[in-house]
Amino acid sequence: MTDTFDVLNPSTEEVVQAIHMASADEIDQAVAKAKAAFPAWRDTAPGTKATLLRRFATIVEEHNEELAQLEVLEAGHTIGNARWEAQNVSNVLNYFAGGVERLLGHQIPVPGGIDITFHEPFGVVGIIVPWNFPMPVAGWGFAPALAAGNTVVLKPAETTPLTALRLAELALEAGIPEGVFNVIPGFGKVAGQRLVDHPEVRKIVFTGSTAVGINIMQSAAPQLKRITLELGGKSPTIIFADSDIEAAAKAAPLAVFDNSGQDCCARSRILVERSIYDDVLAHMESVVKGMRVDNPALDTTDMGPLISQTQLDRVKSFVPDNAPIMFQGDAPTGKGFWFPPTILAPVSQSDRLYSDEIFGPVAVVVPFDDEADAIRQANATDYGLAASIFTNDVGRAIRVSRGVESGVISVNSHSAVRYWTPFGGFKKSGIGRELGPNAIEHFTETKNVFISTES
Ligand code: NAP
Ligand code: MG
Repeated sequence: MTDTFDVLNPSTEEVVQAIHMASADEIDQAVAKAKAAFPAWRDTAPGTKATLLRRFATIVEEHNEELAQLEVLEAGHTIGNARWEAQNVSNVLNYFAGGVERLLGHQIPVPGGIDITFHEPFGVVGIIVPWNFPMPVAGWGFAPALAAGNTVVLKPAETTPLTALRLAELALEAGIPEGVFNVIPGFGKVAGQRLVDHPEVRKIVFTGSTAVGINIMQSAAPQLKRITLELGGKSPTIIFADSDIEAAAKAAPLAVFDNSGQDCCARSRILVERSIYDDVLAHMESVVKGMRVDNPALDTTDMGPLISQTQLDRVKSFVPDNAPIMFQGDAPTGKGFWFPPTILAPVSQSDRLYSDEIFGPVAVVVPFDDEADAIRQANATDYGLAASIFTNDVGRAIRVSRGVESGVISVNSHSAVRYWTPFGGFKKSGIGRELGPNAIEHFTETKNVFISTES
């Protein structure tokens, strides 16, 4: 393995920048730096820490356009999405900055003294980030980690290190002390693995494939290292006949094709009550065919390219020439990793198209018979990340929400990621939760202190 990696523009295949990839020794050096910076950061007054994180948020907001443009270049995200992603980093920093001064423990009634709990930071936290949402996923890790008083070593994905590197520079500009927030690009098998194996890294936050997540859990076990894993998905949209059918049908494709389907929450199984199956397909067709797949830097573009040749090959392998293509949009030809939005039907429930994460702009549409069948089908994968339920029956909305084994459910909406609310998966979609009011505590150990009043 060479020690540089050419970051490519996925729209053109041109090299954006060659980036040095860290060796295991360089990860050790970064961990040593983070460890040295830890005591002073932990002991920084809560109000000062909060102020520094808010200043970091403000500087990120001031650089929103620059960060967004960089994400268009390295990841092929549409400019509109990329601006939202940069803003999300700023919002998440502000949100967790608000937690620093409210990291409350308990005072517990006990005989013979007083008892109090503390939320102590771990020390060095390792964060391993995928390429599909380089900025938000980084922020969901580093913002609460820093707010809780930890220091951080973050390894971005090899294909998308540029925005993370820029965020580290902006942190220094904001006055976050040297060594507190370290971004070290590297290959997963070298730098990522070393971060997981390093005994001084007390917690790993990983987002990515289920296969690597399992590997990380195994590697972390001998050290009983704490882990949070956000892994794959094969999430459903469930459309009942008692919903606003046209609105539900028209919204469904975007919940798959946003970010070119490279979204762990992509609602890539569209389950439709049998009586409205044809209607739903008819409404969807115009939306899918009308999608503008084009240069992601244009404000008018709905969908950009895939991240890499590897990902394009993977997606293509799911859509061979004899695939049951119901309808497909357009995509540019020539240079770049382009794949058109694609709807597949009919697809049987035993097909890998029904159960495997494709991570591209490909969805299956499958009929169901009744509420029980909808729940059964929704749960018929190893994953359990998101689900969207469309119905105007309140009782049904609640029954199905409770019945579906997923961590993030929306009713008459596709809103899955909201920084105020917990995010994460059941089953093979992961372990632990990010975001929301409790996430900061997941970056701490609870310490109980009893003080005798009898001596
Ligand atoms: P991946 O290998 O799981 O990569 C995610 C991150 O983990 C990257 O930073 C990667 O580094 C790193 N990594 C890889 N092997 C590692 C190891 N042994 N120890 C520690 N870190 C390691 O995902 P991918 O190969 O980019 O994508 C493959 C498939 O995973 C996709 O097709 C998709 O199905 C799924 N995926 C899911 C999500 C999600 O949000 N749930 C995100 C990305 C991918 P490198 O960049 O150097 O590999
Ligand atoms: Mg990989």
